[in-house]
Amino acid sequence: MTNPASDHSVSCRDYVGRFAPSPTGPLHFGSLVAALGSCLDARHAGGRWLLRMEDVDAPRCVPGAADTILLQLEALGFEWDGELLWQSRRERHYHAALTRLRDKSAVYPCACTRREMADSALARDGSRRYPGTCRSGLPAGREARAWRLRTQPGVLRFVDLLQGEVSEDLERDVGDFVLLRADGLFAYQLAVVVDDAEQGVTHVVRGADLLDSTLRQIYLQQQLDYPTPQYLHLPVATNMQGEKLSKQTLARALDVTAPARTLAGALRFLGQPLPADWADASLAELWRWAIAHWDRARIPRMRAVAWPEG
Ligand code: GLU
Repeated sequence: MTNPASDHSVSCRDYVGRFAPSPTGPLHFGSLVAALGSCLDARHAGGRWLLRMEDVDAPRCVPGAADTILLQLEALGFEWDGELLWQSRRERHYHAALTRLRDKSAVYPCACTRREMADSALARDGSRRYPGTCRSGLPAGREARAWRLRTQPGVLRFVDLLQGEVSEDLERDVGDFVLLRADGLFAYQLAVVVDDAEQGVTHVVRGADLLDSTLRQIYLQQQLDYPTPQYLHLPVATNMQGEKLSKQTLARALDVTAPARTLAGALRFLGQPLPADWADASLAELWRWAIAHWDRARIPRMRAVAWPEG
């Protein structure tokens, strides 16, 4: 039986979506929601859906997790377009982007250690707001550890397709943020922006835990003369204590032996209707139904939803 997700008869070349898991562990219910939401939004629009393994942060990657994620996605009937992209093999692209930013003095070297910044204020996502110590040059005798992007005063905003308007003054609330880390690795913010642009991504559908990163990414796109995709941030699944599902909160492993039931759970979380006889439907039938009936307006307009089955 063919997988309905690969049927592009109504292909819309304008929509390119993606799912970008970090291989820090197997997929759990929360990451399945992001995979499914991004895939259905793309397929319903007749668009393409790409898969990218975000393994740029090597110390956080868990051996074998990427393979497990791919097996889970396949067992659940996901089909992506084109080649899987590995961030760990794209260093020269990130390097080229950083060089472009260096050439226009949009970035600068920073010598500050974590300890030296321990007293600075916290940004919304819990990271330290950079006080700007190295902005006008490295202090005498100090060496560059990281590279930071220079932010500018003023409120930036964008309209999320689900969560509505989001605004932030990056300079005041976040400060100049790191693009090349002290350990020599490129930061997530740079990798994600370069990859989304080079893969031609037009729509980013992902969990609302990344909402606080989005204006950093939009600002960086502007600095690199990249187009800004549309964003839709799905509610994040939490346990009944309100904690995001993760390895730390002991999220249950996904049951891929009953794929239709597992998909049905994620569809329900996303507020989508299910066919009356879904329990008897094949996986292919459920996919076909889900693509045809996907409706953004039914997704809970919330940043987090507690889910007992997570
Ligand atoms: N790799 C990120 C994560 O798994 C997602 C990045 C994104 O979708 O922009 O949390």
